[in-house]
Amino acid sequence: AEAERLQKVMAQAGVASRRQSEKMISEGHVKVNGKVANELGIKVTSEDKIEVDGIRLNEEPLVYYLFYKPRGVISSVKDNKDRKVVTDYFPGVRERIYPVGRLDYDTSGLLLMTNDGELANKMTHPKYKIDKTYVAKVNGIPSNDDLKALRQGIVIDGKKTAPAHSKIISADKNKQKAIVSLTIHEGRNHQVKNMMAEIGHPVEKLKRETYGFLDLYGLTSSQYRELSEEEVHALK
Ligand code: URA
Repeated sequence: AEAERLQKVMAQAGVASRRQSEKMISEGHVKVNGKVANELGIKVTSEDKIEVDGIRLNEEPLVYYLFYKPRGVISSVKDNKDRKVVTDYFPGVRERIYPVGRLDYDTSGLLLMTNDGELANKMTHPKYKIDKTYVAKVNGIPSNDDLKALRQGIVIDGKKTAPAHSKIISADKNKQKAIVSLTIHEGRNHQVKNMMAEIGHPVEKLKRETYGFLDLYGLTSSQYRELSEEEVHALK
């Protein structure tokens, strides 16, 4: 990002004229990244957080998107191996959005994207217990006892998972594969894969279909839509 003089940035944001902005800086009304900036000549970029009498300048509007993540994409904003990342699918969005929680590289499905850190923290906090439904293609056909085990919780890394509701959607007896739906509210690493592996039916393909009251209706893989005001309100 390009560096510009603080008084120029203030004037451009409509705070006051350049001359008046200089005066406000000298008098200690302005903070850059939380520190009073009372010397003239300071340069700032769009990465810096500027406050005038405690009021944030040029604050990004909060944006919220529901994304249908394809397989083969990293749930992060950067990748050190140059693989595709979720933000690559939002070329026209200027706000610095990031995913709420994560889906594995090879998992597809519903992922929320936002620049609202407060909401992102809240939604990923275990105490909120937001239900997420996954559909998995698994090897073998889980028995009723297997489904019961999922319902009762599975010990993974020494800690029992919360009860998961699951059902068999379809089964191919010849190929010995099943499509299973599983609803959990925890978000432990690789949780669905680990739970299914633990009962002897490893996941071959995984998709998240719902997140709380949100689903993928109307979207195909790689597409996104903005959340409505009502949806954002309901999440908060
Ligand atoms: N559980 C998994 O194993 N992987 C995901 O991506 C999400 C849930």
